[in-house]
Amino acid sequence: MMHKYQIDKFRAVFKSKVTEARYFESIVNEIIPEVKQSFIIGLSVFWLYSIADFLFFNKETFTFFLFLKLIPTFSTLALILTIKKIKSSKIFYTIILFNLFVFLGFVVFFFIAQPTEPLQMALTQMVVIMGVTLLIPNTFVYSMLISIISSIVFAYIDILKSTDSMVNSVIIISSFISYNIFIFQFILKAHLVQRLKFIELHKEQKYIRVLNKEILKRIALEKKLTKMASIDSLTGACNRRNFIDIAEHEKRKSHRFGTNLSLILIDIDDFKAINDTYGHATGDLALKKFMKICKSTLRDSDVIGRMGGEEFAILCIDSDKKQTEQIASRLCKNIYKNTAKLQYRFTISLGVCEIKPEYKTIDKALHLADLALYEAKKGGKNCVKIA
Ligand code: GH3
Ligand code: MG
Ligand code: MG
Repeated sequence: MMHKYQIDKFRAVFKSKVTEARYFESIVNEIIPEVKQSFIIGLSVFWLYSIADFLFFNKETFTFFLFLKLIPTFSTLALILTIKKIKSSKIFYTIILFNLFVFLGFVVFFFIAQPTEPLQMALTQMVVIMGVTLLIPNTFVYSMLISIISSIVFAYIDILKSTDSMVNSVIIISSFISYNIFIFQFILKAHLVQRLKFIELHKEQKYIRVLNKEILKRIALEKKLTKMASIDSLTGACNRRNFIDIAEHEKRKSHRFGTNLSLILIDIDDFKAINDTYGHATGDLALKKFMKICKSTLRDSDVIGRMGGEEFAILCIDSDKKQTEQIASRLCKNIYKNTAKLQYRFTISLGVCEIKPEYKTIDKALHLADLALYEAKKGGKNCVKIA
């Protein structure tokens, strides 16, 4: 199987088309500032060079040749755009605009400077070619294509123009050849280095993704652990510590807002007998059934806690002693009614007390409710007593 990061060293592209496409996508955002930069640098060099030309050399008419030079360059551009089928990409229109600017600058300065020395002409043209090749953020092959075609056309025109000697032709041709060898090395390196950087970045992103996944997994685990530490796994009620925390919090809240807060302590009657008769698993079923009936009887805002074994507590928010007694009686009846047809039928005893603001901690209320619960047990079970 072809590895997705393999590079075709001669064409300076990824062998995998998918990777190449991804690479191209990734550099598009980088291209705009890069294009602007090279445009400014290229134009500055061009200006300086043309001013020097204007000051030091004589002028001749270049108009005809100038237009001849522009035609193949634009044709090459058009050819490349056709090959690449770039139609909608905004970035390419920006680049074409930049190229137009460079060419306009080139035309204006050529009119003013009109260089005649063969080497000087060739150098001016090379600056232009370099500008174009570097401005096109394309694949290496296309950049080279522009450079070579433009060089050939420029050289041909220059030789036509320089009537005097064979030496001039040799100078022109050899300078264009050396230029292309240089630009070949330069652009090839640039494309390869950029792709290698892309590979590194990609690997890093992959690593970050793995790390992120790991972090999310840990967060989920932490949540699960926190839940496990605060919820009783059998019934889904709050565990003792969590219940007391919530109760303390609600106590402070009710004190601040002047609302009532009450507590019901519940113990399942003769639970040991259920275990002994039907087994521990059935005992567990009874505990779950108890929880289910509690939930259907109570309000959503009421908090249910498993205080240990078969002992539960209910925090009735915004309820005074009287209202809580009604809730407790209803629950007592519902348990009796709803378990009556079950093999493991059971009843509960309940102790109710109000959590008064003057109680320092919730323990005081728990103690009072426990006393009431004891009274309920003593009073024959399956009933509610108030502290
Ligand atoms: P009383 O009416 O006086 O409360 O009698 P009781 O049998 O309910 O009281 P006791 O405290 O003697 O028995 C409680 C039993 O609850 C003992 C224990 O084995 C059982 N138990 C505690 N936790 C669980 C549990 O998670 N599952 C089951 N199946 N039984 C449990
Ligand atoms: Mg019991
Ligand atoms: Mg008990």
